[in-house]
Amino acid sequence: MRMRRRHVFHFVVVVVGVLFAATAPARAAAAQSNAALVADLVTANHILFDQNVVDAFGHVSVRSATRPDHYLLSRNRAPGDVTAADILEFTLDSQPVTATNLPLYSERFIHGEIYRTRPDVMAIVHGHSYSVVALSAVQNARLRPLMHFAGFIGEAAPLFEIRNVAGDASDLMIRDGKLGAAVARSLGQSAMVVMRGHGSAITGTTLAQVVHRAVYAEVNARLQLDAMRAGPVTYLSPGEIRATASAPNYGRAWDFWKAQAEARRR
Ligand code: MN
Repeated sequence: MRMRRRHVFHFVVVVVGVLFAATAPARAAAAQSNAALVADLVTANHILFDQNVVDAFGHVSVRSATRPDHYLLSRNRAPGDVTAADILEFTLDSQPVTATNLPLYSERFIHGEIYRTRPDVMAIVHGHSYSVVALSAVQNARLRPLMHFAGFIGEAAPLFEIRNVAGDASDLMIRDGKLGAAVARSLGQSAMVVMRGHGSAITGTTLAQVVHRAVYAEVNARLQLDAMRAGPVTYLSPGEIRATASAPNYGRAWDFWKAQAEARRR
């Protein structure tokens, strides 16, 4: 009996050891891919600045590869200045995993609350690109795709009206989890939400895709404002939206924009 128990004990030790060894490469790969994500997140910051999607303000995040309930985001810095040392890890409550005295983005709750409600979302851009803000303030208008890179917008981007949540005397900022959750509700299952008088939150499954979407959301908004001045606008049809929703060659754009952004930073 005693021997049997010892054998069982040894068996358990061996099984646990084998399982641990078997998952070690996976854990190492996950840790490695978080390091790769940090490098790509820095690049995404620089591209979005270089492409005029963000200026001194705005931010981009990515979900952790090791912890789906965590995300990576810079400390409070202008995107063009962000380095790998600035990237911090946050919980879905948008609290830093490691306590820090560094100043944090006051609107990081946009990211945490969208990651919480949308397990399919792996990367998010929040910015205030000018044409998107202009269109957000046009009464009875919505951001709608009219070009082939913008099918991800869907028939019309949902419009977040902060007055419905915070009254008509707020500073329009998403300063807590309650307001972040309201933005996430407004986003629903869409790829992006326009925030009236403020900007947008844009989602994707990779950093390269969300950067591409953020660039072309602004381009489409600018083209839409131009087209609305010129006459009645023909938007993409539902079939065209479906056919272009998960379009093009993000890798080519990412490599080109990365080279441009890094060349201009020197
Ligand atoms: Mn903002």
